[in-house]
Amino acid sequence: MLDKQGKIDLSRGMPCTGVTVRAVTVKRGCAFHVCKRYETEDEDFMGLALEEAERARERGEVPIGAVITLGGEILARAHNSPLGMNDPSAHAEILAIRKAASRTNNYRLMGTTLYVTIEPCVMCAGAILHARIARVVYGATDPKGGAVISVYPVLTEGKLNHQVEVKGGVLARECGEILSRFFHEKRVHSPT
Ligand SMILES: [Zn+2]
Repeated sequence: MLDKQGKIDLSRGMPCTGVTVRAVTVKRGCAFHVCKRYETEDEDFMGLALEEAERARERGEVPIGAVITLGGEILARAHNSPLGMNDPSAHAEILAIRKAASRTNNYRLMGTTLYVTIEPCVMCAGAILHARIARVVYGATDPKGGAVISVYPVLTEGKLNHQVEVKGGVLARECGEILSRFFHEKRVHSPT
């Protein structure tokens, strides 16, 4: 908002510049125009996972993204890529785990948080346990393949030797919408 002299009136809040917040560059809400406002650190990082999902969509992959953090810093981010990599294991979580392990030079990712836009599958839940990831935050649930609460409670049953703190439903609507839009467009454009 500009005042009568054409200067920015900061009484209405700082202008939105996509400022760096908690080591993450995200668009914050502001008084000047409508833009995304995330309220919590979990939502900030899920917003980045959503950006990764968008990258997957642009490449014709199922739009799923993942981010791994340690102490509020980003260790790795990745998007679903099984088609492009000819690799059925190239889920966003697996690729992010590999990058984070390589970056820390450690096959254990103790103390880390993994953000992923959809409830992890059985394969990824297994990798999360092997990596000793401390916390998993996911967006939408996956009623057909989720291995947290939907199909198999791999991460939450408590029988295995590593326990993972789990939080679901973060930006669930946005995470679900990018998937449903992708599959809707695929149905519309694919010959029957
Ligand atoms: Zn998976």
